[in-house]
Amino acid sequence: MHADVLVIGTGIAGLSYAVRLANQCPDKKIIMISKRDLLESNTKYAQGGIAVVSNFINDSYADHVEDTLRASDYTSDPKVVDFVVREGPLRVQELMDWGADFDKSGASLHLGKEGGHSAKRIVHHKDQSGLHIQNALIAKARAHDNIQFFENYSLVDLITDHHLQGEKHGRCYGAYVISIKDEEIIKITSQLTVLSTGGAGQVYAHTTNPNAATGDGLGAAYRAKVQVENLHFVQFHPTALYPKVDGNTFLISEAIRGAGAILRNEKGEAFMHKYDTQLDLAPRDVVSRAINAEMKKHNTSHVYLDATKIDQIILAQEFPTIMSTCMKLGIDISKSFIPVLPAAHYFCGGIDVDENGQSSLSALYAIGECSHTGLHGANRLASNSLLEALVYAARAAEHAAEALRKNILPASFFDGVPDWLGTEDVSNERIAQISLLRSDLQQIMSAHVGIIKSGDSLGLAEKALQDVYASTAALYQKNKLTPQLTTLRNLVSVAYLMVKQSQQHPENKGVYYNQDYV
Ligand SMILES: Cc1cc2nc3c(=O)[nH]c(=O)nc-3n(C[C@H](O)[C@H](O)[C@H](O)COP(=O)(O)OP(=O)(O)OC[C@H]3O[C@@H](n4cnc5c(N)ncnc54)[C@H](O)[C@@H]3O)c2cc1C
Repeated sequence: MHADVLVIGTGIAGLSYAVRLANQCPDKKIIMISKRDLLESNTKYAQGGIAVVSNFINDSYADHVEDTLRASDYTSDPKVVDFVVREGPLRVQELMDWGADFDKSGASLHLGKEGGHSAKRIVHHKDQSGLHIQNALIAKARAHDNIQFFENYSLVDLITDHHLQGEKHGRCYGAYVISIKDEEIIKITSQLTVLSTGGAGQVYAHTTNPNAATGDGLGAAYRAKVQVENLHFVQFHPTALYPKVDGNTFLISEAIRGAGAILRNEKGEAFMHKYDTQLDLAPRDVVSRAINAEMKKHNTSHVYLDATKIDQIILAQEFPTIMSTCMKLGIDISKSFIPVLPAAHYFCGGIDVDENGQSSLSALYAIGECSHTGLHGANRLASNSLLEALVYAARAAEHAAEALRKNILPASFFDGVPDWLGTEDVSNERIAQISLLRSDLQQIMSAHVGIIKSGDSLGLAEKALQDVYASTAALYQKNKLTPQLTTLRNLVSVAYLMVKQSQQHPENKGVYYNQDYV
C-alpha cells in the first residue's frame, strides 16, 4: 500500500492533523491506522478539558504562559509556550467549527479550574471532554474521501534506510504494520509519516492510560535512531480511584478539586496545607508526593478525596461520569469520601520535534503525547496536552502541505522498498510468557521508577529490566511476530530509556524526584 501521508494513531493529534491536511490537500491520499478502534485512545478518557485563554477580562496569555512555566519549574521552552498559548484559542474555535460542543455559561464558554492555573480557563464538555472531542473529530475525518482508515493494525517498525538495499535518502519511507486480527504484516510506504501514538502509561502497574498506551511510537522511533528526550519526566496523576474498576484505573479529574473537593488522610484530616500554599490545587507533582508521604506515614494504600461539600447539583451536572463510576463501587460521592491514589498519567517527554512537529529523521513527524516539543519541560500544566496536540497537529499539517508540494520521492522509488522480512517459523505458543513479562516489567517500574526514585532503585530497575530484555529478545528471535510481542518490545525499550535518562538526570526538577538529591 502507498499513501502520500501515513498517520499512525487516531487520538486528538492524529485526527485533527488528518482533517486539516485533507481539507487543504484534497488530492492527497492519507492513511490512518489505529491499534484498536478509532475511538480508543488516551484522548477518549480525558475528562477535564482544554486549557485555553478565552476570557480576557479575568485571564491573559501572559498568565497562561507564566502558569505553564511555573508548573515546569521553568524548564519549558518559553518560545514554544508562547506560541502554543497564543494559537490555542484559534485551534479550539476550529474544533468547535468541526462539531465539538463545549459547555456554556450564558453566551460564554463555561470554564473549569485545575491545579497550577491562576484563572478559570479549562474549556470542557461535562467530565467527558475527550470522548466528545474524539467523536466530533472521527465524524469529521470520516467525511473526507481522501482519508482511509485501518483499525486494529499496529505499528511494527518505521521503514528507514536500514531496510533498503539500493538508493537511500536518509528519511522515513512509511511503516510495517501488523493486523491485530490475523497477524499479517503489511508494508505501507508514504512520502511523509506521522507518529501520533500517544503515551506509555502501561509501562507501570497503576496508570490512568488505557491498555493500548504502550509507547509503540517511542519504541519504533528509538529503534530508528530518532532523537527521544525527557522520558524520565513522567507525571503521576494524584487522584486515581482506588481500587480499579473493571480492571482499569479510573481517573478522578482535578476539576473536582477545582470545584472544592479536598484531600484527606486516613484520619480524615486535610493535609495539603503542610505541603504547599496552593493547597489541593498545587501542581500535580507536589500533590502526588504529598499523597505518597501521607500514605507512607499512615501505612495505607490510598488517601481520600472529600467532595461532600460540593453542591449536589454541580456534582450531578459537571461530574456525572465520576459519580456513576464511584457508584459502581458503592460510593455516593455526595455523602462519602472517595478513596484515591496517584497513578502514572502523562509522559512529558517523547520524540524530539521542532516547531512544526518534524523529528530528527527527515519525513517523520511526531505530534501529541508521543512528542517532545518543549512545552511541558519537567512537568505539564493540567489540560495543556490536548492544547499542545491541537496546536502541533495544525502546524505539522501546514508544514506537510508545503513539503508535499516540493519535497517528494518518485512513486517508482517505493517499489524498491522490501516487504517485511521477519521470522515466520515456530508456532506462537508464547502468549502467556509475553503477558507475564509485561506484568513483570510493570511491577519493576512501579517499584523502582515511581514517584520517588533513588540511585539504588534505578540500579535495581536496570538490572531487573536486563532479564526482561533478554527474555523478550529470545522470544523475538525464535517466534512468529505477534502484536503482543511487538508491544512488549516497545515497553522494554521505553522502560530502558526511562531508567537511563533518569540515571543521567542530575537534579530534582518538576516531576523528577530522586531522594538522593535532597
Ligand atoms: C484519564 C485521562 C484523562 C486526561 N485528561 C486530560 C485533560 O482533561 N486535558 C488534557 O489536556 N489532557 C488530558 N489527558 C492527557 C491527554 O488525554 C492525552 O495526552 C492526549 O489525549 C494524547 O492525545 P494523542 O492524540 O497524542 O494520543 P492518544 O489520544 O492516546 O491516541 C493515540 C493513538 O495511537 C494509536 N496507537 C498507539 N499505538 C499504536 C500502534 N502500535 N499502532 C497503531 N496505532 C497505535 C492508538 O490506537 C490511538 O489511536 C488525560 C489522559 C488520561 C489518560
